[in-house]
Amino acid sequence: MADCLFCAIATSEIPATLVLETERTVAFRDINPQAPTHVLVIPKVHHPNVAALAAAGDGLLEEVIATSHAVAEAEGVTETGYRVVFNTGDHAGQTVHHVHAHILGGRSLGWPPG
Ligand code: 5GP
Ligand code: ZN
Repeated sequence: MADCLFCAIATSEIPATLVLETERTVAFRDINPQAPTHVLVIPKVHHPNVAALAAAGDGLLEEVIATSHAVAEAEGVTETGYRVVFNTGDHAGQTVHHVHAHILGGRSLGWPPG
């Protein structure tokens, strides 16, 4: 999609620090990390949010989740725990409208979120 930041990261037009890549997904470090591990996992194709990705019904959402767990393993946070977050819409603070999972870990994250 034209003028989409994460489409541009998916095609390497805009650089990012990659953590993992699969045929249909990319994981890269958040530019403004909120925890010792803060990685974003995206599908390479554009969907605006997780509901649209789920509705596509082509297994890509499952692949995003599988990549998220692989990121947690690579970061060494599976034992201590980690959070997978899909901010969706304004009240959740979604600022980039290309679906992305935040993988957060490496410290106690607290609950509920502020
Ligand atoms: P959202 O608020 O939409 O859930 O999350 C967007 C995330 O993208 C934010 O955590 C923000 O720090 C991150 N971000 C915004 N621009 C860039 C960028 O150019 N590169 C990287 N790596 N992350 C970005
Ligand atoms: Zn996009």
